[in-house]
Amino acid sequence: MSQQLTIEGEGFGPDVPVSTDCFIGAERVAGEGEPFEVTSPIDGRSLGTMCSASAAQVERAVRAATAAFPAWAALGPQRRKEVLMRFAQGISARKAELSVVETRDNGSLLIANQKRLVDRAAQNIRFFAEFACDAPPVMIAGHVDNHVHHAPAGVAALITPWNAPLMLSTWKVGPALAAGNTVVLKPPEWAPLSCSMLADIAQQAGIPGGVFNVVQGTGSVTGQALIEQTGLARISFTGSTDTGRRVGKAAAESVTPASLELGGKSPFIVFADANLDEAAKTVAAQFGNAGQVCLAGTRVIVDARVAEDFERRVRKAAEPFVVGDPRTRGVRVGPLIHPRQLERVDGFVQRALAQGAKAMIGGGPAEQGGLYYQPTILHKVEQQSEIVQHEVFGPVLTWQTFGSEDEALRLANGTEYGLAAMLYTGSAGRAERVAAGLVAGTVWVNCFFVRDLAAPFGGARSSGIGREGGQHSFDFFCDIKNVAIARDSFTEES
Ligand code: NDP
Repeated sequence: MSQQLTIEGEGFGPDVPVSTDCFIGAERVAGEGEPFEVTSPIDGRSLGTMCSASAAQVERAVRAATAAFPAWAALGPQRRKEVLMRFAQGISARKAELSVVETRDNGSLLIANQKRLVDRAAQNIRFFAEFACDAPPVMIAGHVDNHVHHAPAGVAALITPWNAPLMLSTWKVGPALAAGNTVVLKPPEWAPLSCSMLADIAQQAGIPGGVFNVVQGTGSVTGQALIEQTGLARISFTGSTDTGRRVGKAAAESVTPASLELGGKSPFIVFADANLDEAAKTVAAQFGNAGQVCLAGTRVIVDARVAEDFERRVRKAAEPFVVGDPRTRGVRVGPLIHPRQLERVDGFVQRALAQGAKAMIGGGPAEQGGLYYQPTILHKVEQQSEIVQHEVFGPVLTWQTFGSEDEALRLANGTEYGLAAMLYTGSAGRAERVAAGLVAGTVWVNCFFVRDLAAPFGGARSSGIGREGGQHSFDFFCDIKNVAIARDSFTEES
């Protein structure tokens, strides 16, 4: 019998029991590591104690995944799809429960989980289950016939952050399992609950024991033990650039291919010929999820000729971004995840203010107290200042102006990051030119956050290595083998 905690619906949804154990092989397993407390960012309430996997248990999980691999790989994409479709269906069927739990656990807006994120999690599984079936064998005809085979790679270690654990975990679990791999998932310490529920849903869907394993725990113990395992075929990591470097080092030691989706400090460029109202609304939208979004456009870079006018529009567009309990209707900005994150965010803001920056809006904790922070825009900032150069990961934007297209590009490209960029202009020619000059994995022109599952997603420079999405995810989770056959060299058909 697994240990459980209960997330109460409190009028926002059902009461939900959640296992606090790991899931290894086909069973719930109590952790042998140091247990840790899970608290809710909404009101600081303790939700219970989560188990932690010891290094020996992480090894056991990898062994379970290794043992389950041959049969899962041999099942083939079509039979795997049948199971994965049930998995996706199970996620959809538990939308109300997953939404209540995710919001309690990480403070994301309840309505966003109910309307978008849980559906997207199910779609992550469905999309790749179908993709694996549809992937055509690649033939390259030349002096020889090249048959390109995609074979499942083996055991994949998946590590995800707290800002969208369900969505980001399924974004990795989907392609890994669909391609025929088995996985060990390490959820984030600050928001581990929805991933625990995924294990139950996977089991109920008939995913065989050992194919999907969850090891709970801290990054420094459980996460580190996972990336140091020798039996891994892939490591797929989403998180900060600092941790990404550590993951990259461990992967290099064992020569394990690693995909690293890391931090960002994305520019949001507004030209004078843009639809300024639309651009202003999208600037304000960067406060969504309390700014705890890797690809948020946190550096507003606006044409000096319209800066004053644009400032008025942004102030107005930001008004509906009401701070408060993320379960309450009308609230658009929930809490930061953890007291350490509040301290970090406010530290950046106060240091910037002390160095001469001015608050256009916000500039400190919100009147609600707790982990709530005011949507903040800081202007009069220097390009080389800490607030412009470093990822804050809170509802904090900087504001700079430019006098020419070249200057806009220089400012936009002037950090170590390259995850995304937003660009608002009425000119197709300018859009093409500037998009070509931006260093970013994704450039959104006159839009934001439109992410097609088939489109490549990832970062340049310190924002990561590799791309996820569609064929890119599928290729990453496969060993690609080219079989080159001499033309007309066979004497028998079979
Ligand atoms: P962290 O890098 O701190 O943690 C990410 C994950 O790595 C967590 O599960 C964490 O565990 C784990 N971890 C920590 N240390 C280790 C270690 N030594 N070995 C293995 N795993 C470890 O990031 P945050 O959770 O703070 O997430 C915020 C960051 O994630 C931001 O920088 C953000 O930009 C980035 N991000 C990037 C995205 C992208 O697609 N590019 C998307 C979303 C976020 P634990 O939680 O227990 O510490």
